[in-house]
Amino acid sequence: MPELPEVETVCRGLRPWLEGRRLASVIQRRPDLRWPLPDRFVARLEGRTIARIERRAKYMLAHLDDGWVLLMHLGMSGRLAVAADPDAPFEPHDHVVFLTDQGCQVRFNDPRRFGFMDLLPAHGIEDSAHFRGLGPEPLGNAFNGPELAARLAGRRTPIKAALLDQKTVAGLGNIYVCEALYVAGLSPRRQAHTVQGRRAERLANATRGVLRRAIAAGGSSLRDYRQASGELGYFQHDWAVYDKQGHPCPDCDCRVADTGGIRRIVQSNRSTFYCPRRQR
Ligand SMILES: [Zn+2]
Repeated sequence: MPELPEVETVCRGLRPWLEGRRLASVIQRRPDLRWPLPDRFVARLEGRTIARIERRAKYMLAHLDDGWVLLMHLGMSGRLAVAADPDAPFEPHDHVVFLTDQGCQVRFNDPRRFGFMDLLPAHGIEDSAHFRGLGPEPLGNAFNGPELAARLAGRRTPIKAALLDQKTVAGLGNIYVCEALYVAGLSPRRQAHTVQGRRAERLANATRGVLRRAIAAGGSSLRDYRQASGELGYFQHDWAVYDKQGHPCPDCDCRVADTGGIRRIVQSNRSTFYCPRRQR
């Protein structure tokens, strides 16, 4: 499933091809993705110029020159890729195809169809159903130790669950929450309201750090962007704890035989990976 750094990487990869470009044609190959596509979807997009592409949480926003925004979400298995060969036959799950005035073709492919697209007026978009109540952007200026501490104050829930709650901070998924808690040295079971002061500072910095490193790693995959077979947006990192059950902790000088290494527990039906020695 694409997480925030993957979505950011896709945005960065698409900008050179789409920003400032006019949509010469749009092909809609089915009426719905996760939800029905908007009425007159193709007619409302064709002829429009994409002014700029932004990311908010795990949404991609293509701002159009008529004051509307094409909102795109990759869901579980969505991919947006520049077609290496625009004449290549469509794949079965190529659902929406954008062709620019420069002849660049971007295909949205999504086998499981949990992705979606919508058209929204740019004005007041923060109050739309998609964005209302979303917490601050973890890489934005509004996210820092004091802000995080304020959002965790009084919360009687494990810190892991509080971080996955999109109202606390926007766009964090299971992998990055596990990694950020590891870097911050905080137990995923710790009560959220106890993460204040220096602990909140450490956690905010750790969150930004793991996301930034993942985005930097993703940037190196951009050169493959035009390969139709390219898996841009799904690059693998070498996680410290995620999916590392039983592996030695990269930070502790502990022997797996003694400690069991990285531990896996289940919280709110999701796997949590952590080092019980380092994370308190
Ligand atoms: Zn450790």
